[in-house]
Amino acid sequence: MTIIPTGSRSMSEVTTTPGSTEPVLGSEHELPEEAREIVFEIRNLAVRYGGALAVRDVTLDIAANEITAVIGPSGCGKSTFIRCLNRMNDLVAGATVEGLVRFHGEDLYDQRVDPATVRRRIGMVFQRPNPFPKSIYDNVAYGPRINKMKHNLDETVERALTHAALWDEVKDKLKKSGLALSGGQQQRLCIARALAVQPDVLLMDEPCSALDPIATARIEDLMEDLKREYTIVIVTHNMQQAARVSDRTAFLTTEVDDSGHRSGRLVEFDRTATIFTHPSDPRTEGYITGRFG
Ligand code: ADP
Repeated sequence: MTIIPTGSRSMSEVTTTPGSTEPVLGSEHELPEEAREIVFEIRNLAVRYGGALAVRDVTLDIAANEITAVIGPSGCGKSTFIRCLNRMNDLVAGATVEGLVRFHGEDLYDQRVDPATVRRRIGMVFQRPNPFPKSIYDNVAYGPRINKMKHNLDETVERALTHAALWDEVKDKLKKSGLALSGGQQQRLCIARALAVQPDVLLMDEPCSALDPIATARIEDLMEDLKREYTIVIVTHNMQQAARVSDRTAFLTTEVDDSGHRSGRLVEFDRTATIFTHPSDPRTEGYITGRFG
């Protein structure tokens, strides 16, 4: 299923800045490109709020069934970047996106793309668990119902809760409120809610920052299982978490221009092991060794 209705002509050349053909940083350390299925191709991405640059120079590829972590100091544009991947910035007043984001080869910002289809295929989980004030069942069934995927709803709900490693804990209380669960269970409920509409990407913006270490470990284990079926992008301020869970890491930092304006930019993107052991940019090394940020 594509995100652009069939039969319409591509307008990507008039709706976006032409993409860079430069190789992605660190690509010499990666598997041969043909061995990886690229889900997102991101070229020269920049985001402004009210005209002021927030983040720029983001060029990287995100591969299927990998966990890609986005790290960097507060304010460098991690959340801004991840929101570009399912067009959440469309909902932010004053936000403008420049550059190219291709999703399975299609321009995500093409005028004909249906944002509702995008958000079904690219789910998102936020920093604070945000279940609806509804039953556990109705939280998970919400997306399938509004997307008219009501066939075998009970099975869909069970499958999503099982994938989110929550089924055994809630199968006897599906009619209880989602808000009655613990914080970690609520976050897994939100993951189940995102999975219920059968996305192929899960975006996670600091998903563990409100959780204790045990609940965090459960989410990290779950991510390892989920990547067999889904592509995952996680923003985290926790470098150890990025090192533990991700296959590749993008490091963003903040720079100040001549007029004193601060904006974020991508410094380095590579296999996580390389970023944490042999980063090629001294700014990455400074950050991961705690010398700045
Ligand atoms: P991070 O996730 O790395 O902490 P953010 O993406 O939240 O960074 O923010 C990047 C920059 O964009 C910051 O300077 C922040 O103040 C600014 N910013 C983020 N969201 C908005 C918004 N809705 N309106 C205006 N500025 C914003």
